[in-house]
Amino acid sequence: MPHVRPRLALLLVLGLGGTGCLASAPPVACQGREALVRARDEETARRVAGLLDELVPRARAELHASADQPVEVWVQAPLALYALIDQQPPTDGFYLPALGRIHVRESRAVGREDLATFILAHELVHQLRDESWEPLVPALEEGLADVIALRLVPQATSLVRALREPAALVATEGLSLRIDWHHAILDAEAVFTIETVAQLTFEPEDVSLVDELLTGPGVSATDYGRAFLIVQRLEELDGLAGLHAAACADPRPDVVTLEQAARMAGVPLEPAALRAWVVSRMDSATLGEILAHQVDDVADCLAQLLPPDDGDPRAEMLRLTPSFEIVGGAACVAATDVPGLLEAFVERRTSAR
Ligand SMILES: [Zn+2]
Repeated sequence: MPHVRPRLALLLVLGLGGTGCLASAPPVACQGREALVRARDEETARRVAGLLDELVPRARAELHASADQPVEVWVQAPLALYALIDQQPPTDGFYLPALGRIHVRESRAVGREDLATFILAHELVHQLRDESWEPLVPALEEGLADVIALRLVPQATSLVRALREPAALVATEGLSLRIDWHHAILDAEAVFTIETVAQLTFEPEDVSLVDELLTGPGVSATDYGRAFLIVQRLEELDGLAGLHAAACADPRPDVVTLEQAARMAGVPLEPAALRAWVVSRMDSATLGEILAHQVDDVADCLAQLLPPDDGDPRAEMLRLTPSFEIVGGAACVAATDVPGLLEAFVERRTSAR
C-alpha cells in the first residue's frame, strides 16, 4: 500500500507511537512563486504564500541552498500531524524531512505576527540548509535555525532572546531583579526610592519551544537556549564563517559539538559563568519581553510589594513608577512598559477590594 511507507518514515522521524492516520491537508491551496501553501481559507493561504515569496530566496541565499527544492507549507489551527488525536504538539511549527513539508500554526493562534513569521523562517532553515551543515549536532542546528531566521525576521529578536536566554538558565538560580519604586509622602518634596530584590527562576515548562517535537528528547530546553547563545555569538564574531568551516572540516554527522562551538565562541557553559554572561549581555527590550512572558507572576509580586491605597490602581502605578533592573547588568524596564502588566496589576488590586 503506497501510503504506508511515508507514514512509517514519519513515525521513525518523530518517535511517536503508531496511532491514527495523518491529518488531512487544509482545504485551500495557493501556489506562490516560491512555495505551495495550504490553509483553511483563501486569505491566509495567499498571505503566507506572499510571505514565503519574500523569505525563501533570502533563506536560500543565507544558506547557499539550491533553488530547485520545492517548499510546501501547511498552515494549521490547531497544529496537527495526525487526525483524531486531540493532543496539541508542544510547538508552533515543525519540519518533516520524510515528507519535505513544513507545518506551522496560524498566526492568530500563535498570537503574535512576529513570532509566527520567525517560526516559518526557522523551519525554512531546517528544510533549505545544505548537507555541508550536517556535521553540527542537533542542538547547534537549532541555534543555526534561530540565528539565520532572525536575520530574515529581525523584528522578532527581543522576543526570541526572551524565549531562549531563560531556557539556557533553566535549573540555575535564574535572574536577580531589583525592583525600585518612588514613594512621595503627601505634599512633602522628598521622594523616597524603595528597592527590593526578587529572583526570577525558570522551569522547563515556562519556556515555549518552537519545535521540540521534531528533535524530541535529543535537544533539551537548556540546549536550545545554550545553542542560541553560542551561534549568536559566533555570528557576531565572523558571520558564522568559523562555524561553517568547522562543519566542512569533517563531513560525518554530529562531529561539531555544543562544547566545541562554545569554545570557539568564548561562551562559558558552566552554569554560574553562563548566567553571568547572559546577564551582562541582556538588553532592556529582552528583559521587557521576559517579564511580559511571566506577567502574572510579576503582577502578583508588584501587588504584594507596592503599598496599596484607596485610589485608582492605574494612578497608583503611574505615581510609584516601579521599574525592574537586572542585578549585575544594564537592562532596565519600567513596569508601565511591560505589555499587559498594568492591566494585570489593576485586576489584582480590583479583585482584592
Ligand atoms: Zn528547529
